[in-house]
Amino acid sequence: MKLAVFSTRKYDRDLLNEANAAPGHEIVFFDVRLTRATAALASGCPAVCVFVNDSVDAATLAALHAGGTRLVATRSTGFNHIDLAAAARLGMKVVRVTNYSPHSVAEFGVGLLLALNRKIHRAYNRTRDGNFELDGLMGFDLHGRTVGVVGTGKIGCVFARIMRGFGCTVLGADVQVNPEFTALGGEYRPLPEVVAASEVLSLHCPLTPATRHMVNAQSLAAMPRGALLINTSRGGLVDTEAAIEALKTGQLGGLAIDVYEQEADLFFQDLSASIITDDVIQRLVSFPNVIVTGHQAFFTREAVGTIMATTLISVSQFERGEPLANEISIKS
Ligand code: NAD
Repeated sequence: MKLAVFSTRKYDRDLLNEANAAPGHEIVFFDVRLTRATAALASGCPAVCVFVNDSVDAATLAALHAGGTRLVATRSTGFNHIDLAAAARLGMKVVRVTNYSPHSVAEFGVGLLLALNRKIHRAYNRTRDGNFELDGLMGFDLHGRTVGVVGTGKIGCVFARIMRGFGCTVLGADVQVNPEFTALGGEYRPLPEVVAASEVLSLHCPLTPATRHMVNAQSLAAMPRGALLINTSRGGLVDTEAAIEALKTGQLGGLAIDVYEQEADLFFQDLSASIITDDVIQRLVSFPNVIVTGHQAFFTREAVGTIMATTLISVSQFERGEPLANEISIKS
């Protein structure tokens, strides 16, 4: 089947070509993001493959549909970038990748937490400059601390298990109880209680209308003073401007984000020689107690290999007219 793949980089092309050795689909790669303006590139392709910052809104879907596309496969777990209702109206199927290494994201979240707490990013820069001073690098023991996990699904549970291994009390907030979370020693509480008790809060729930800006001025004020916030889920979960205000007063002790609400115009590209006009991200990176990474939590050999293989399995299922194991229904 002819498959148009948007937002690709060399590593996507290499791993997708590798995974395509057996299925043998006809793949056309595009570096550009999928938008209404670029949708025509997929004309004649029954399937398109997209990534987290592609704009798969109603207008883009209509343009894809007009060009003959009937399947949208996202190389991600999250699908907040796709208008599912519009796809359903057009009779287009949407698939995602649900089960690629949750360890990739959870381990990265732990890495961010350790770096933020123990100021490893600052020490790295200091020692390269011949500065071996410890002043300003003091952190706290994670052992015995309370860690809040918002979203106790696949990634949240792996993160929680690692935190239990550190000797932390782990509290969870979720709209659904996951027995795995309680089995590993996590304790469920309503979200406001988790926020109020957690010295570290880590976000692992999807971005939906209900979760947008779930971390806002009010919840930041309710956190223990100096708490650390880790977001490896989706940028829209955090009201970034409110987080900046909380960082300025010291109410928020540190912020590590792998995702950012306005990341679509920034991430996955080298802007080091450009003038960045987004003042919010520029303010964020100016704080010594903020770490920003460019949506790389998933980026391990295991995870990306599984993402590519699963995507091609979905395309093959679609081509053969079989049920789509990874289809996203509107209720998902
Ligand atoms: P999952 O579906 O296994 O778990 C999500 C959990 O969030 C579920 O338990 C669900 O009930 C819960 N949830 C839904 N609404 C909620 C709400 N209002 N409040 C609290 N909890 C709520 O998903 P997962 O595989 O663990 O992935 C979690 C998220 O991680 C994804 O949605 C995606 O946004 C993000 N993610 C980021 C990266 C990255 O590279 N940074 C990679 C993969 C996934």
